[in-house]
Amino acid sequence: MAAPAADGRRMARGAACIMSAMVSLRLIPKVELHLHLETSLRLRRLAEYDHPDRRAYSEPHLIADPGAFTGYDRLRRLRYAGRAGRIPDEVYTAENITRITGDLLTAAAAQNVRYVEVRVGGRRGFAALGVRGMLEAMARAAEDAERRNGIRSGFLVTLVRERGPEEAEAIVGEAAACRDLRVVGIDLAGDEANYPPAMFMRAVERARQAGLGITVHAGEFTGPTSIWIAIHQLGAQRIGHGIRAVEDPELLTYLRDHRVTLEICPSSNIRLGLAPSVAEHPLRALLAAGVPVTVNSDDPVLLDTDITRELASVQGTLGLSAEEITTLIRAAARAAFLPQAVRRALEDEVTQAPAAS
Ligand SMILES: [Zn+2]
Repeated sequence: MAAPAADGRRMARGAACIMSAMVSLRLIPKVELHLHLETSLRLRRLAEYDHPDRRAYSEPHLIADPGAFTGYDRLRRLRYAGRAGRIPDEVYTAENITRITGDLLTAAAAQNVRYVEVRVGGRRGFAALGVRGMLEAMARAAEDAERRNGIRSGFLVTLVRERGPEEAEAIVGEAAACRDLRVVGIDLAGDEANYPPAMFMRAVERARQAGLGITVHAGEFTGPTSIWIAIHQLGAQRIGHGIRAVEDPELLTYLRDHRVTLEICPSSNIRLGLAPSVAEHPLRALLAAGVPVTVNSDDPVLLDTDITRELASVQGTLGLSAEEITTLIRAAARAAFLPQAVRRALEDEVTQAPAAS
């Protein structure tokens, strides 16, 4: 048995390694594809900061016992019945949306994220400001961030399944009219189990006709079949999460051969009980199968993470090499919803970077 002092030295060395990996990972150019804007706690934090009586907003409404809820129900409770959901309507102003988008982009730029796709789809934001109003407020922050920090960004409009196919179609119509405001794609999210993809075929087809990229949350709470359906019925080019693809070898081959990219968010998967730990996360198996895999933060404020920490955690725990980290980032550049020439330039930018050690 090792002496306590030796144990202590080993732990200190381990911590120092993780710290130095974090520094390298923070410096290398990155691309992030799966990042939600307004389901995070950003607006709530802003309300707490601005309001003269902060106690009005600061009661902890966190779930008492997350383990009591499973699958999408747990996510719903975490996001909407939790603190993030208790935000007064008057906080949804264009100015505040510009501020939180600016915060998000500043945080991304500080980690040398060169391009990020930010998702927006909250019912309350769209109700208060309209789809165009919300996107205009975000675009103001994006222009400012690009001018100041050189970070480029595109927006994905999220269609929430439980709000039904009619609303999805109407929102796609509005999103398609906002391509001048950096809208590059749509994202289908929400309750996979009770709202099958077939319900949203028309909405997604309309988005495709408008030239928007298609990403679908699938293979998260439901099995590999939902990924097959997202690809074949909805023409998904990317899959949000998709970790359960690992259960189906034929699907892995398909994803590899057709370059359908998985947007993996390790902390989110673990917090929602989809993987027991980073060590048991299927990311390594997916990577080994040649599937285009990307690493993302999903909802950084709610999950208390960011893309650097996500990469450091998979690198440290799964023992990924510097080349494998570059492969993950490169896969994100390749799968960005950008014109081909811009995507290639982005890929070169992140590939020529010095590799992390
Ligand atoms: Zn998501």
